[in-house]
Amino acid sequence: MSIWQIFQRLQPFVKPYYKQITFALFLTLLGAVTAQVNPWVLRYTVDTVQSMLDKNWGILQGRDLLLRISIILFVKEIVNTFIVFGQRYFGEKIRIKVSSDLAQEAVSRILTYNLSFYSDNDNQKGKLQTRIDRGVESLTKLIQNFFIDILPLFANSIVALAIMFSANFYVGAIALAILPVYFWVSFKQAGELQGVRRKLKTQRENKSSGLINLIESIIVIKSFVREKFEGRKQYKTQMELMESQLKTRRTNFTYDGIKSFVEQIGVVLIIILTAYLVLDHQMSIGAIMFHILLFNNVSAPIRQLHRIYDEMNDALTYSEGFFDILDADHAVERSGDFTPESIKGDYVLQNVSFAYPNGTKALFSIDITIKSGQTTALVGLSGAGKSTLINLLIGFYAPDSGTLLLDGLPLSAYNLPALRNEIGMVLQKNHIFKGSIAENIRYGQMDASMEELIAAAQKAYLHDQIMELPAKYETDAQMLSGGQQQRIAIARLFLKNPPVIFLDEPTASLDAIATEQIKNSLDAIKKGRTVVIISHSLSQILDSDQIYVMKKGHMEESGTHAELYEKEGLYREIFDASARSLNLDKMIELIAKE
Ligand code: ADP
Repeated sequence: MSIWQIFQRLQPFVKPYYKQITFALFLTLLGAVTAQVNPWVLRYTVDTVQSMLDKNWGILQGRDLLLRISIILFVKEIVNTFIVFGQRYFGEKIRIKVSSDLAQEAVSRILTYNLSFYSDNDNQKGKLQTRIDRGVESLTKLIQNFFIDILPLFANSIVALAIMFSANFYVGAIALAILPVYFWVSFKQAGELQGVRRKLKTQRENKSSGLINLIESIIVIKSFVREKFEGRKQYKTQMELMESQLKTRRTNFTYDGIKSFVEQIGVVLIIILTAYLVLDHQMSIGAIMFHILLFNNVSAPIRQLHRIYDEMNDALTYSEGFFDILDADHAVERSGDFTPESIKGDYVLQNVSFAYPNGTKALFSIDITIKSGQTTALVGLSGAGKSTLINLLIGFYAPDSGTLLLDGLPLSAYNLPALRNEIGMVLQKNHIFKGSIAENIRYGQMDASMEELIAAAQKAYLHDQIMELPAKYETDAQMLSGGQQQRIAIARLFLKNPPVIFLDEPTASLDAIATEQIKNSLDAIKKGRTVVIISHSLSQILDSDQIYVMKKGHMEESGTHAELYEKEGLYREIFDASARSLNLDKMIELIAKE
């Protein structure tokens, strides 16, 4: 993207603030004029004092002059204070507003995207966050540069240069001639720093993530006695960072020195030329100071040039990634029009195949039927495609081929939010939002009353436990144990009260006691609903009406537990292995002894 394209993309974001921008620009122009008052006053003062001295006048006659210039400078300072305030305030206001608009737009956009967008490697949570943050940051800096830095400074510079030219062509020409040299040095500086700055950023990130990793893995580090090894690793990162920091400083100091030198050459040349012109009676003596101060105004913006150039480069680098996020039209969830009153949950899949956007083929010609009101179990080894199948049933992904019908209609015909309102999910680990238990359960139905909330918690066998907590329903939900968090997810479901429920290994991360308790909650919620469950737990599989056994994306066999057990195929193999892992024989023996 070029700077021009970026400005075009920013247009819609800046447009609502055109009035403020116009006002800021007007203030800028006004500021550029008032900035030249000092040189005028100084010239006027020197010339008038000189002519007074020529006439042998003293302080008595000069009083008037002093009063006049004091008033002028005083008024100018007051006006200037207002201008600078207005300029900064409006510039900053535009910047802050555009920045929040940009961030908000990114968030609203990504919320409309489908899961393929999120499973893309470039969009993993940390990376996406960085892309949005950096994009917004660099774009707003660009706006700030433009309205707060560049325009006022350059307006100043151009007005000062114009006055120098109009006062004397040669002096103006010297001031102008210094500029290209200055520009060139600034660009060299920015160019040299660019590589280092990138490196510096990565090194800073490495250092902080290194520290985070260190804290996260402290138990492993200590148990393997690897403190010294880790310390050396950190030291190396630190040294690399230090090297880059020193290099940045070195480069900056060198170039700043060169720039200052060039600027001073400009000043000296102007002093020599104006002194010559004064002696030649072409100028009054006040013109020396006049031009030096004007030249200062001319060179001021250029001192900032390398910073502005750097930040423009940042904008070029990061804005592309940011606008890519806004432009991911292909990822917008496509939803049909059909809004069901309610769904029954009769799914029919014929010949369904599916591959993830990264190319992983996860399902091959799947044929299954899920009957409403029944519990259907999906069984298979890890990676067999069970979760993928559920992702398809809830419309997170669309099949690449085959037919997927729900209650006799293609799933693609359904309005997705309406469909999802009718489906509930409990996963192996459910997300618990930052906030209280009440807030977390209420996620199931935002306008639920406290009574409804408590009823849901009771059905999920969670209420009694909540009442034992010091802050009861206001306790921080993230402090709860795994089993309790799982029950929050189930309470959410009771509140949502959907006719169709998908359970994806809901007890996999729990201990035996919690598993048993959760089983009670699940049994309660299964009643009268269509349930699809993925589970390794024998008890939950045994309870199912229909079992589908998957292997490497294929449907291997299906039937009831009794049928599949008799068949002595993959199901029997998995079942027997589970039983052996539980040491069932021994357990039965022990239980029988009691
Ligand atoms: P199961 O639930 O049976 O353990 P999954 O449905 O999770 O299996 O996975 C099936 C296959 O799809 C695996 O090979 C897995 O690596 C792959 N897979 C799962 N999720 C994604 C994803 N978001 N992107 C790419 N591949 C995936």
